[in-house]
Amino acid sequence: MMSQAVADRYPALLDRASRLRDQGKGRILSFSPKVFLPLTQLCRDVCGYCVFRQPPGRLRSPYMSPEEVLAVAREGEKRGCREALLVLGERPEQRYPEARRWLSRQGFDSTIEYLESICRMLLRETSLYPHSNAGTLVPSELDSLKEVNVSLGLMLESSSPRLCDPGGPHEHAPSKHPQARLDTLSAAGKLNIPVTTGLLVGIGETARERTEALQLIGELHQRYGHIQEVIIQNFRAKKATPMRWANELSTPETLQTVAEARVILGPEMNIQVPPNLSGSTREAGYLEFLGAGINDWGGISPVTIDHVNPEAPWPHLAQLRRQVEGRDFRLRARFPLYPEFIRRKDNSLPAALRNRLEADADAEGFVPQPELEPLWEGRPC
Ligand code: SF4
Repeated sequence: MMSQAVADRYPALLDRASRLRDQGKGRILSFSPKVFLPLTQLCRDVCGYCVFRQPPGRLRSPYMSPEEVLAVAREGEKRGCREALLVLGERPEQRYPEARRWLSRQGFDSTIEYLESICRMLLRETSLYPHSNAGTLVPSELDSLKEVNVSLGLMLESSSPRLCDPGGPHEHAPSKHPQARLDTLSAAGKLNIPVTTGLLVGIGETARERTEALQLIGELHQRYGHIQEVIIQNFRAKKATPMRWANELSTPETLQTVAEARVILGPEMNIQVPPNLSGSTREAGYLEFLGAGINDWGGISPVTIDHVNPEAPWPHLAQLRRQVEGRDFRLRARFPLYPEFIRRKDNSLPAALRNRLEADADAEGFVPQPELEPLWEGRPC
């Protein structure tokens, strides 16, 4: 499946990455059966590639209501989903009076306060486990969210401050300054919060900067041991964004970055590539990444679209299983906390949440069989 051009260019790197994956993870490829909840698409910042962010006039309401969240979560439950992925724009109340008014009417001072109450409701009312991507956070916010999330997500995206210069994709997004992201990731480490991070590749950074960003993530993990997963996500140029004409990273360059991630971060790290963004889903271009050392496909949903990349459908689960089994891997559903982190006793999970996860997981720490496919049949995944 590996294209000849890539195999010719980086054979030693790819081979090493694959062997490290096999050494640390065996032949298991995991994914997280999830529902994607865009709690608010308002955002204080403006990134040059983003279609998730919407102005208030385009939204029926500034935030999803608790009832709307529950309706989607319950649909996911019926299909065997275990993750409630909550995705939010950055602190919309700092920019939009509509957001401030809505929060105030519900009795909240901030988006993060509202998020915490939604996570608490999901834990109380459903069998899903919250994993929030809430942007940059200060220690007191991290402290409150760790009580109601099994892990948090914050992409480093890039280590290059150049991207914040005039004309760059992050010129109008102060939360995307690498130091702001590193500060949040470090603060999460000090609190022992399991965190998913990663790179958004192809937004104007150089190959050397991609390597540097991976090294920074590696240093953070060495210091705190809290990085549970690193995503290599490729930028996709979207209509109606300032970067609609920008070149996307080539597949060989993306493969090189994925393999470097495995080599730099080692055999034990979980390395994810989203299959709906990697080459054509129809032609299963994502399978090339098996040869670059990945061991995870991230979240896949039978209920909700990828609201960050709405044009990119998830692969069909039964097809994905056949494809990876055809390459001598086992496909396993996981929780939004990886098995090795469920086993760890020193992370930030409250006892009740840890007990619940331990009771829900099988002996290997994954979502127990039986297979999900019968529950997903006929769903638009
Ligand atoms: S990528 Fe995130 S921070 Fe940037 S504009 Fe979109 S929602 Fe806001």
